[in-house]
Formats: sequence, structure tokens, C-alpha cells
Amino acid sequence: MNIGLIDVDSHNFPNLALMKISAFHKSRGDHVEWWWGFGDYDIVYMSKVFDDTYSKDVDEPLNARKIIKGGTGYGLNGNLPEEIEHIYPDYSLYPELTKDTAYGFLTRGCPRHCSFCIVGDKEGLQSRKVADLSEWWHGQRYIKLLDPNITACKDRLDLLRQLADSGAWVDFTQGVDCRTLTKEIVLSLNAVKTKMIHFAWDFMEQSDAVVKGLELYAQHGAITDERKRRVYVLTNYNTTQAENLHRIYTLRNMGYDPYVMIYDKPHAPREIRLLQRWVNNKIIFRKCERFEDYDPKRR
Ligand code: SF4
Repeated sequence: MNIGLIDVDSHNFPNLALMKISAFHKSRGDHVEWWWGFGDYDIVYMSKVFDDTYSKDVDEPLNARKIIKGGTGYGLNGNLPEEIEHIYPDYSLYPELTKDTAYGFLTRGCPRHCSFCIVGDKEGLQSRKVADLSEWWHGQRYIKLLDPNITACKDRLDLLRQLADSGAWVDFTQGVDCRTLTKEIVLSLNAVKTKMIHFAWDFMEQSDAVVKGLELYAQHGAITDERKRRVYVLTNYNTTQAENLHRIYTLRNMGYDPYVMIYDKPHAPREIRLLQRWVNNKIIFRKCERFEDYDPKRR
């Protein structure tokens, strides 16, 4: 069969689903290529990660006998069949982005069900193990772990040990849920080679648990350089500016690097966008201690 692939919102990140679909078809002897207008295809797979607010859909191709669409940009259903989900991805689709780097999930799902996040509805309200590292890591120097909440999984210590044993540099791309931390988990995280760690403090209701987790990490965590201990601070969602500032000042005092994220940025008030510029530009943030003193016209 002739298979065409379309990465609809192609961005600076490889599309793992398409990499697995490609590997599956190649294993059956099919020809797989990126779709192009003069091809003739038995199946064209279209994958879209983001919804239409962030990335526009493209027209369905006319030169395909069958079109299969998938990805959260098209809705929450449409997980890959098990035999494709667990195949070793075809890294040759994105040679530059996947150079010496493995991408994958060890767990899926998250119990938190944050109101702005689709993970719970798509993957379930429990973090559960879905793979061992050997399924998608074959000795690459770098690992991009895509798990939404690995430390909430009951198998976390075993999975963290697998990551540590790999000796690869691991990027926890979705961050670590500091509310799940115990001393044992922090020590297991310490054994994993990581250049940077990031957490999140999204809601005020989480404050006690977040601060407790961050204190624990500050006490036992291996990463001590505050520039490499980042905490995402969600704004323009359901917190006031005073609550935004409270989180930012608290984090700085605790030795963490706050990083402002703006929900619905195109419609965010100017004050929030200024706050983001003040915090996220680390030269300004270190020079000017208080937001109240920040003058955007002066650098
Ligand atoms: S903790 Fe993270 S993955 Fe889990 S629901 Fe909240 S934002 Fe989503």
C-alpha cells in the first residue's frame, strides 16, 4: 500500500503518533512518505495536536482512497490501536528533531483533572504505567519523556529507576507534579540525569501542597541552581494579580525560578502581559525586584 502522512500543525516537535503509524506500515512492507499533491495514496493519515484556536486545519487531500484523522486537535477519541501504540517509532521521519533523542510515554493519565487540561478526559483520571523504557529507547543519549504525571503513578519508583539506569539525559517535558513528592521520590529523581526540572503552581487552592512539595525538593533535590528549578505560574485563568504576585514572590524567596504562563494570551489584559515580560526576562527580573517598580519603557 501507498501511505501518505500529514503533520497538520507541524511545529518544532516530532509527531509521535505519525512516527508509530509509519513504523507499523513499514513493518508490513508498505511504502510510507510525507503526503504530496502528486502522489496516489491508499491511505492518508492526518494528525493534528492543537485545536483550531492555535492551528488551522488543512483541506482533506483528494488523492487518497481513505483518510484517517487523529490527534487531540480533532477531538479526544481516536487513540492508536495497541499494536501501533507499542511499536518502536520511526525516527527517520524527523531526522533533525530526533537526533540521538528518544521520545515516548512510560505512563498515561493524571488524577488532577485541572480544568484547563484535557489529559484526564483523554487518558483517564489515573496515572498508569503503559510501557517499559526499553520499548521506545534504544540507547539514545537524550530522552524526551512526554508523561503527564509520572510521579503520580504507583510504579513511579521502578520507572524512575529505568530512566536512571539508562544513563541518558532525561527531559521531563510536562514537568513534575511537586504535590506528589516524597523524600523517596525526590531521591529517585536525583538518580536520573536531568539538566533542569520544572514544576507548576497553577491554582491558589493548591498552595499548601505545592509549597510543601517545593520545600521538600529544596531540602533533598539534586538540582540546587535556582535558574534550573523552574516553576510555571498560570495567570489570566482564575487568579487575581495580587495572587499572581504572591506566587511569584514566594517562589523567588524559596529559591525557585518563576515563569509566567498566560492563559488565552491574545485576550489577556496589558497588566498580565507586562507581568510576563517582567518575570520571564530574567535580566529584568533580577535587576528589578518588585513588579510595582517595573517600568517597561526603561530596560
Ligand atoms: S497536573 Fe498537569 S497533566 Fe495533570 S491535569 Fe493538571 S495540567 Fe493536566
